[in-house]
Amino acid sequence: MMDYTPAPDLLKNRVILITGAGDGIGRASARTFAQHGATVILLGRTTRKLEAVYDEIEQAGYPQPAIYPMNLEGASPKDYEDLVTTLDREFGRLDGLLHNAGLLGALAPIENADINLWYKVIQVNLNAPFLLTRACLGLLKKSTDASIVFTSSSVGRKGRAYWGAYSASKFAVEGLMQTLADELAANTAIRVNSINPGATRTAMRAAAFPAEDPNTLKTAEEIMSVYLYLMGADSLGVTGQALNAQ
Ligand code: NDP
Repeated sequence: MMDYTPAPDLLKNRVILITGAGDGIGRASARTFAQHGATVILLGRTTRKLEAVYDEIEQAGYPQPAIYPMNLEGASPKDYEDLVTTLDREFGRLDGLLHNAGLLGALAPIENADINLWYKVIQVNLNAPFLLTRACLGLLKKSTDASIVFTSSSVGRKGRAYWGAYSASKFAVEGLMQTLADELAANTAIRVNSINPGATRTAMRAAAFPAEDPNTLKTAEEIMSVYLYLMGADSLGVTGQALNAQ
């Protein structure tokens, strides 16, 4: 990521929905976006974690956030409709959508891959971003300048042994991003891009690389530049791009 110095009020008056906001990169994104003036909606499956992030943001004096507990693994189309109805009533639009929630699954050769786990990983990493995007497009179109950001991975750009469903889901997310960006190419008010965070010190990374010393990795707070860039007006007109946070 290039050097980027965001304005302190970069995201002032912007309403941004973040999935997986209770931990890791999602949590850092929520705090960082709020610090830059955004009203953040914290979506995730563990209410206790969402409440902790909510409290941190409130205590820091940033704009009051909102919490939306939702398990993306089991959510039905109706659950997405209910979310959109609530957001429309409370905010009337959406300026940013960060698809961040993700499930690693288990590292295993394709031949032995757990079939049910494959479905779960595809559900959370691919189907949920599709369903959420589909449901939120109307709200995003009510913004004068909306940004949709998908979360990819190094294995979403080049396959690697044992990364099975996770890798396939991230490749598919890149495809979804490109397809949507192309569909919206004439709509200069909505941009669509993806970020590969790169190795980052979170619970997911530790699960994938248990022998690695976490202190050698960037923290989620340290990779926020590209997230801010894509969520704020400095990236107006940037669409269909696959970016790297590191
Ligand atoms: P974490 O596991 O630390 O956080 C993932 C978040 O997603 C958690 O808040 C988790 O909720 C939430 N989540 C998982 N499943 C669901 C679900 N079914 N419904 C709702 N929320 C869910 O991971 P990271 O912060 O590391 O990862 C964030 C994103 O970045 C992911 O998309 C990941 O694939 C990607 N990524 C991460 C890299 C890294 O090195 N860390 C590298 C490349 C990509 P809960 O806490 O309640 O379980």
